[in-house]
Order: sequence, then C-alpha cells, then structure tokens
Amino acid sequence: MRRLHVCSIQALSGEGRTKIMINLGKKHLLFIEPKGKVWETPVNDNLTRMMNWLLRKKATHGPYFKGWHTCACGVKSANYDLYLPDGTMTNSLAVHYLKHHRSEVPKRELVKLILLVSLIILKEKP
Ligand SMILES: [Zn+2]
Repeated sequence: MRRLHVCSIQALSGEGRTKIMINLGKKHLLFIEPKGKVWETPVNDNLTRMMNWLLRKKATHGPYFKGWHTCACGVKSANYDLYLPDGTMTNSLAVHYLKHHRSEVPKRELVKLILLVSLIILKEKP
C-alpha cells in the first residue's frame, strides 16, 4: 500500500510557496517529513553509513527546483532530488533523517535501504 503526503516548502525566490510530495512507495527512499524540531542524539550506525555511501558514491541528481525542503529542525535540503542506480528517488536529507530523526524513520524505509545497498553490491561483484 502506498501512502502519500503533501507538505509545503519554502520557495527560493521568497515568492509564495510550492509543494513537494512525501512518498513511502517502493521507488522512493526516505521521502519522509519528521516532526521533531529538536535533533535526537546522532545515530552513526551502519544504516547511516550505508545511506551516506549511497548518496556520495551512487546517486545522481535530477533537475533543479526553485525551492527546497526545510526539516522540522531547520536543516534545508538541496534543491534537487537524487536518483540511485535502480531509479529509486531519494533526497539530500536522507542521511540527516537517519542520523538525527531515527525514531521517526519508518522501519520499512530502513529495510528498503538495506535491500538497495545489497542489490547494488551484488550487481557490482561477480
Ligand atoms: Zn531535521
């Protein structure tokens, strides 16, 4: 079952507001919107490292938007989405969510992360 949420983001131009979609579907990873305004104790475990590796080594970015997403704690995203080798879309706040909002990350997203990394590694090694 796909759950879809819509939230507002600030426009770079400061003129009005635009919207992005929060998506927990199988072709989206960590498109969530934590509600916590205060950062939790940072979690630097293998899941955080996996996501960091994915974004730094495997992701390409899509077209630039006129706005960005602002996390409840005030951290801003890049103004583009990121795409993983299998076409899954994620965002520049993915590591931030895992590190600082772990209690709000759905377990399904953690499983998707593990599966994606596993599939990428399997495809790279004979
Ligand atoms: Zn945050």
